[in-house]
Amino acid sequence: MTATIDHFVGGERAGPSGNRFGDVFDPSTGAVQARVPLASESEVDAAVAAARSAFPEWAATAPPARARVLFRFQMLLRDHLDELARIVSSEHGKTLDDARGSVTRGIEVVEFACGIPQLLKGEHNEGVASGIDSYSFRQPLGVCVGITPFNFPAMVPMWMFPVAIACGNTFVLKPSERDPSAAVRIAELAVEAGLPPGVLNVVHGDREAVDALIAHPDVAAVSFVGSTPIAERVYRAAARAGKRVQALGGAKNHLVVMPDADLDQTVEALMGSAYGSAGERCMAVSVAVAVGDEVADALVDRLAPRVRDLRIGSFREPEAEMGPLVTGAHRDRVQGYVDTGVEEGANLVVDGRGVGPSDGGDGAGEGSDGNGNGNGGFFVGGSLFDRVRPEMSIYTDEIFGPVLSLVRAESYEEALTLVNDHEYGNGAAIFTRDGDTARDFTTRAKIGMIGVNVPIPVPSAFHSFGGWKRSLFGDHYMHGPEGVRFYTRLKTITQRWPTGMREQADFSIPTHR
Ligand code: NAD
Repeated sequence: MTATIDHFVGGERAGPSGNRFGDVFDPSTGAVQARVPLASESEVDAAVAAARSAFPEWAATAPPARARVLFRFQMLLRDHLDELARIVSSEHGKTLDDARGSVTRGIEVVEFACGIPQLLKGEHNEGVASGIDSYSFRQPLGVCVGITPFNFPAMVPMWMFPVAIACGNTFVLKPSERDPSAAVRIAELAVEAGLPPGVLNVVHGDREAVDALIAHPDVAAVSFVGSTPIAERVYRAAARAGKRVQALGGAKNHLVVMPDADLDQTVEALMGSAYGSAGERCMAVSVAVAVGDEVADALVDRLAPRVRDLRIGSFREPEAEMGPLVTGAHRDRVQGYVDTGVEEGANLVVDGRGVGPSDGGDGAGEGSDGNGNGNGGFFVGGSLFDRVRPEMSIYTDEIFGPVLSLVRAESYEEALTLVNDHEYGNGAAIFTRDGDTARDFTTRAKIGMIGVNVPIPVPSAFHSFGGWKRSLFGDHYMHGPEGVRFYTRLKTITQRWPTGMREQADFSIPTHR
């Protein structure tokens, strides 16, 4: 019988009480490996109630004591790195190395959160007026909620809850229903590390659960990461319900290649960032902008054989460079975009449609019904388009698959305009040897995270992650100092102690006389 994945509420696994379920696939075989409960409003209520009742005591726990739990938690996560990577790969499809890397990036946020006593230090001014001192500190918000996407089932939740709980909040996580198991195992390790029951809860579900969480009167703040239409919807609904909200959306990340770029370095960077994790990364490079035809021709010549030779396979195969897509439906959507690109007149240099695992195993195409009914994994090969134009949908839309579009620009200014005119503003990179151009790009690009000769400029845990334009709705980025600000609110105290001095009532606004 297919296993059922548990929620995690009040410090322990909790079986479903509703009757709606979703399928969790093994994308490399297409088989259904488990079913995930899709929480009803009452299951959501139970998770929020657990978080609410844990809040007062956890908020009153001294920050160094909270940090001690986090220190133990990060050690346990490291001890269980391989296990967690395997869970991620088996439900997402990415290679084990990639999964290990992503879990490690999540652990780095836990390390950052271990510094919470230092991070929560406030500000103090002595003598702002006669006998008056002023100081500010930050306090937790209450029950915070995280809603996360399928592509990083361990890392993205760890962008959120370690910082939230370090700040003294309690948390309800609603991970993606496509790969929900990592979240439960991570919550279990947190409790093993000494986190009190109810501080971190996991409830599985779809739109029904998300809507119930956003509308819940006991929820103070909502962090969301996912596609732009849902991010915008969640942002509006949560703001209307009076919650603090940050909602990170989709991306179309450009990598600008200047004529003086180191082409060997650029090709390696493009291969890893466009085709790693089968392009299912919000920081994947999906557009290369070549400045000048000479650079464009050289890039196509070098990239094409590399894309054709990509080693595609299951996470069980250590040599694989790229795994399958997460579901059959997503595989079909990505292949549909390749069809559209051809219809729109782009030049398809490498066609990944129907390409299966490199060892000739049970791949996409033959026999698969696209719904993952066990007839084959959700594989697709890498595709490369040349002469893509900005009006084409393969340029405007986030495809979220292993499809790289090359756009030819005549000048640096034209390349920069492309970057700035695109509706998304998550990441962008420039490859050049020229300091002036690089500096101009970092100054003028309307983008949240920029790489100079670095293709995937994901900020370290102690900096903050977030995009501009329609890649982020809200005011705060995730983790780093912005994460601490998001999960706390400021309180400012103005105090005077009786000194024997008696003042007359003052009916005008106090000033620094
Ligand atoms: P998604 O928007 O489909 O789902 C994200 C979350 O929202 C999931 O938990 C899902 O259950 C929930 N959800 C889905 N439909 C909903 C609805 N109608 N109402 C309320 N909730 C709903 O995204 P995905 O396919 O899981 O993930 C891929 C997307 O996430 C891509 O667009 C990618 O760029 C984006 N992403 C962005 C970042 C970033 O930092 N900006 C990071 C990772 C992924």
